[in-house]
Amino acid sequence: MYAARLWSVRHARGLHRVYEYFSRLAPAFAPLLRLIGERRAEALLHPLERAAKGFMFDCRECGQCVLSATGMACPMNCPKEMRNGPCGGVREGGRCEVRPDMRCVWVEATEGTKRIAPDHLAHPTPLLPAIDVRKHGSSTWIQVVRGRPDPAFQPPVGDRTVAVAEYGPFEQACNSGRFVVTVEVAPPDSADPQALLARAGKFDGLVDAINITDGAGGNCHMSSVAASAILAAHGYSPVYQIACRDRNRIAIQGDMLGAAALGVKNILCITGDDVSQGDHPQAKPVFDLDAVSLLHIARNMCDRGEYASGRKLDTPPDFFVGATANPFVPPHADRIANLEKKIAAGARFIQTQFCFDVPLLESFMKEVRRRGLHCRASIVVGVGTLGSARALRWMAAHVPGVHVPERLLARIAAATDQKAETKRACIEIVRAVAAIEGVAGVHLMGHRNEDVLAEIIVESGVRGASAQKTLQ
Ligand code: SF4
Repeated sequence: MYAARLWSVRHARGLHRVYEYFSRLAPAFAPLLRLIGERRAEALLHPLERAAKGFMFDCRECGQCVLSATGMACPMNCPKEMRNGPCGGVREGGRCEVRPDMRCVWVEATEGTKRIAPDHLAHPTPLLPAIDVRKHGSSTWIQVVRGRPDPAFQPPVGDRTVAVAEYGPFEQACNSGRFVVTVEVAPPDSADPQALLARAGKFDGLVDAINITDGAGGNCHMSSVAASAILAAHGYSPVYQIACRDRNRIAIQGDMLGAAALGVKNILCITGDDVSQGDHPQAKPVFDLDAVSLLHIARNMCDRGEYASGRKLDTPPDFFVGATANPFVPPHADRIANLEKKIAAGARFIQTQFCFDVPLLESFMKEVRRRGLHCRASIVVGVGTLGSARALRWMAAHVPGVHVPERLLARIAAATDQKAETKRACIEIVRAVAAIEGVAGVHLMGHRNEDVLAEIIVESGVRGASAQKTLQ
């Protein structure tokens, strides 16, 4: 089946033509469908559809087929059921983060899409809505005969229909055009908030916002929503990270309202790492949404004052909504489509994965500028450090989505004081990133490395007057 699936992607252009003819002709059979009755027609047609699509695409029968928008690669074969582009964990060579024995479904989808439309990056990419589990196991062919609206189209976020609340400090900083600095803090493994406050306190006066990770790496810590609320209550500007891995859309929307009620102003929508790398590999991953559909839901809550179900909220939240990007892993240049999709779905700031490779970032930013994406969202580049070449090499090998170039590893390994050299290299990267046109700021990351990160902010000068810059 896997071989047939790969064959289908290789022949995406021809198969897409067949689908186009079918979708044009199919509505002509609608009167016949009504005559036979939908149930009976489904009983006749569905076994045929299941056999054909199962053989050719490894179809999972989601009942909301979007093959024509995904280069003939079924997104339901992605272990995270991503429907809007690759996750940030794609491995070297385009292998899947969760199942390294197969190629990433979205690397395949990108190749199939290029075969269908070689100029695909010139067109807006369709936003695919979150899956409706009630349709699982139903026939898509019947829906096409019925003349269904194209499922590969989700209306973009509309104009704001509810009153705008006051911007939070992080949003104000991004809108001001000055260079912003954010930092990532892991919540503690403790019921006592003091450890969290002590970590956050290392960055007093140094950062515009503090990201609170949500079970990063699939490891359990104090909840991101609680830790964000604690920081907000103590006068900080937290970025509440929301991973789709652990909660469904009902729980996430409830948590977002709770966070807003507790004074949290910023959210970061992420899909989340696979559970197999964390401390609870036996846990069941949820992935009811992907980051793009979560963004869309969050913006609808803020802008239209309604849940994903359409039910109205009494008082909508008013979040500064962000997303992530990873320009450093496959499918490299094509990741711009995913970034564009996130911005179309409502992201107003973007934080990237660790940048250890400035030339790769430069070529990505060139395309960002060409498309004007930096004017629609603040691009904040992830930077960080570890204490030795060995630790960096381990991270590159074991943390999905992290790319460390060999030349940097060789430089650190050759140093007599590796710790000082990694810090020096990080400061150089911060300065190089700050000089790239369109970069709005840096986002410092480093697990329980707060002292060094605070030193890097000060010594790199990004908090000084020299760092003032205006976005083009
Ligand atoms: S690498 Fe990520 S996006 Fe690609 S198939 Fe695996 S889980 Fe899905």
